[in-house]
Amino acid sequence: MQDPDCIFCKIVKGEIPSYKIYEDEHALAFLDINPINEGHTLVIPKNHYETLDEAVADEIPALFSAVHKVTKGVIEGMNPEGYNIFTSAGEVAGQVVKHLHIHILPRWSGDKFRFIWPQQKLSEEKMTEIKEKISSAI
Ligand code: AMP
Ligand code: ZN
Repeated sequence: MQDPDCIFCKIVKGEIPSYKIYEDEHALAFLDINPINEGHTLVIPKNHYETLDEAVADEIPALFSAVHKVTKGVIEGMNPEGYNIFTSAGEVAGQVVKHLHIHILPRWSGDKFRFIWPQQKLSEEKMTEIKEKISSAI
């Protein structure tokens, strides 16, 4: 199930090249074309879903199994000091390519990547209200 206009679907179909790292029935991993750090890798489902929540639940174990395998490869191959794994969903979160992808970003001390992490304290009442909203929706 591919979107003919989607750049990552074109990579899945082999219509545009990629630095392929890993492939199985459900998932594909390739180097990010504009890496934040060396070894920055993307793992995608072969089927087109825009975001994690839109993906079919049955395909998630295979996707995250590929993320696990590829993460171990990135560690073995690149010997980073650590790594971040993340996905961006929606423009507000910085998503540019509208095909679900999981970033595996190897980290070294002194690299240029920065999370801005403006933490706050919420009241107990607010935390309970939020907990109820989310847990009742699952
Ligand atoms: P985002 O949608 O912000 O999570 O990030 C999209 C990522 O895809 C960026 O890091 C891009 O550098 C990367 N990207 C875009 N086009 C390609 C491509 N053809 N091959 C590999 N990576 C790509
Ligand atoms: Zn796609």
